[in-house]
Amino acid sequence: MEDIIDLHSNEDFSSTDKEVDKKLRPLSFSDFSGQKKITDNLIVFVEAAKLRDEALDHVLLHGPPGLGKTTLANIIANELKSNLKVTSGPVLDKPGDLAGLLTNLEESDVLFIDEIHRLSPIVEEYVYSAMEDFTIDIMIDKGPSAKSIQIELNPFTLIGATTRSGLLTSPLRARFGINSHLEYYDNTIIAKIIHRSAKILDVPIKENAANEIAFRSRGTPRIANALLRRVRDFAQVKGDGTIDLKIAKYSLDALNIDKYGLDDMDNKILSSIINKFNGGPVGLTTIATSVSEDAGTIEEVYEPFLIKEGFIKRTPRGREVTELAYTHLGISRTDNQNTLF
Ligand code: ADP
Repeated sequence: MEDIIDLHSNEDFSSTDKEVDKKLRPLSFSDFSGQKKITDNLIVFVEAAKLRDEALDHVLLHGPPGLGKTTLANIIANELKSNLKVTSGPVLDKPGDLAGLLTNLEESDVLFIDEIHRLSPIVEEYVYSAMEDFTIDIMIDKGPSAKSIQIELNPFTLIGATTRSGLLTSPLRARFGINSHLEYYDNTIIAKIIHRSAKILDVPIKENAANEIAFRSRGTPRIANALLRRVRDFAQVKGDGTIDLKIAKYSLDALNIDKYGLDDMDNKILSSIINKFNGGPVGLTTIATSVSEDAGTIEEVYEPFLIKEGFIKRTPRGREVTELAYTHLGISRTDNQNTLF
């Protein structure tokens, strides 16, 4: 049995985990570690909007899951002292749903649409005019007596988040004045986030233990916090409540967390390139077919981390695994080549 938690998903958190997650979410730019270029710019844009007493320009946040897009949307609304309304692309399936949300926005409010690449094309059309002119056309009545009336909206800020910016249509993308790409975090910053979360949870943690958890967190704050919560359980039940290196290692091994923080799909991609394509070079779509995943998701969600950590190289002829991938999977390069002949 796989005794493992799905660290990428937010959905199967228990309600207590959700509560804890809320406590750990930074509320101001000063609490938000990393992504410095993005936050430095956002601080200026938020300040300028406040000085001019205008709604902040629309913001697009893109990057892999768990890196802080929702958190940043919350922070922006807090710093603007505005209300935040939250929805997501797949939920807004009828223009009426969108109209209801938009007409209820007060001046300078923030509307956060998660997974904005999943908006239906018809809803997207309505979003265009709302973003550009702060108006929305609503159809009233049906059949021959149907007519469209234009409603003025209060100036608002749309914050869109997506893991797959490649799927956004260009007219939608062009309507965002601020466009930020979140990158995976360095381990030192993840360790800092772990220390902050441990303090909020009131659990003592040793420096080297935080580093060990950070190392296995796949450069992702959501994973770091999820691991910290589980390691805290082990520290309380199997230890004296303090998270030291020994209990951290013991817990992470018990949870089957990969030594480098790689998840199942990361490992599947690496082993497929090694076992089926002799280590590469191999094209992205070929890899995608062999692991039954969408090529865009591999390119935008999985590959950036594998490249950052030095498991994969991009070459003009395709993707190639590095020596580190062989060592990590315990496969010898020569053994593997021999098996092919
Ligand atoms: P996304 O919307 O990109 O999937 P979230 O904003 O939901 O990610 O972040 C996941 C969790 O990680 C949040 O609950 C938050 O506590 C934590 N988190 C994300 N980014 C940071 C950060 N830069 N500093 C501290 N905690 C963070």
